[in-house]
Amino acid sequence: MSPLPGNRPALFLDRDGVINAEKNYVNRIEDFEFVDGIFDLCRSAVAAGMAIVVVTNQAGIGRGYYSEAQFLSVTEWMVSRFAEEGIVIGGVYYCPYHPEHGIGGYKADSFDRKPNPGMILRARDELGLSLERSILVGDKASDIAAARAASVGRAVLLAPSHVPPSSVPDLQADSLHKINELLFGPLIQERHG
Ligand SMILES: [Mg+2]
Repeated sequence: MSPLPGNRPALFLDRDGVINAEKNYVNRIEDFEFVDGIFDLCRSAVAAGMAIVVVTNQAGIGRGYYSEAQFLSVTEWMVSRFAEEGIVIGGVYYCPYHPEHGIGGYKADSFDRKPNPGMILRARDELGLSLERSILVGDKASDIAAARAASVGRAVLLAPSHVPPSSVPDLQADSLHKINELLFGPLIQERHG
């Protein structure tokens, strides 16, 4: 049975530092290194009936470090790698703008750029998601702030150290394996038991 419109929860994922290891503006497949545990986490979320949605600031485009076409080509490859792991990516939302360092038309204060909630709200409307039942995993305070601004049910920080009190996460852990266990532990046992 397919869920009612606006009723499906999502696992929102930041990209750099969550899906792929944080390096300087990753924009080539050869630099794209999946973070340990990302596929298991997504499989748990899918088993829980969640859509997987990527929400990523890509100011490297606006800064002129790489083109939108380059980003989309890496994205296509990334989505196919997830598919090989049995995971459907429901959507990839990205924001190429930067308020100060964007070049030309890319210099803009975008409602999409996290900590703003634009990408999450758009995904909600386009994919029919229930944000209160959704979870966001990010590695920066701006990810947590975006989740709060969009009233996402739970905001999870993948980070070893504390963040400013303005963006306190619901859950914090230093690995995706721990996050998977904490979020989906009982469900994982059920599947294996
Ligand atoms: Mg990040």
